[in-house]
Amino acid sequence: MYECPVCGNSGKCDYCNNEGRLELIQCPRKAITNDIWQFMDYAELYEKGIPPEHGGALDQLYAFNYYCRFVWNEQALHKAKAHADILGS
Ligand SMILES: [Zn+2]
Repeated sequence: MYECPVCGNSGKCDYCNNEGRLELIQCPRKAITNDIWQFMDYAELYEKGIPPEHGGALDQLYAFNYYCRFVWNEQALHKAKAHADILGS
């Protein structure tokens, strides 16, 4: 069970049948279609300063966008580890 994203657990909406919670009956990743995954990819690239337009993310190879995210994730991981090492936690 998880909190209804529409009513925030108040139980006053049709989406959750006034339960305030929803039951997860399959992997949530299956509910996300390819176009939504692509949109999320473009949103992440846009946040990094690469707009989804011609000359931007739309003109890059899928592999380039994929490996950019891989590198950014690795950098974030190493920065977080370095920060934790400095703070001793
Ligand atoms: Zn609801």
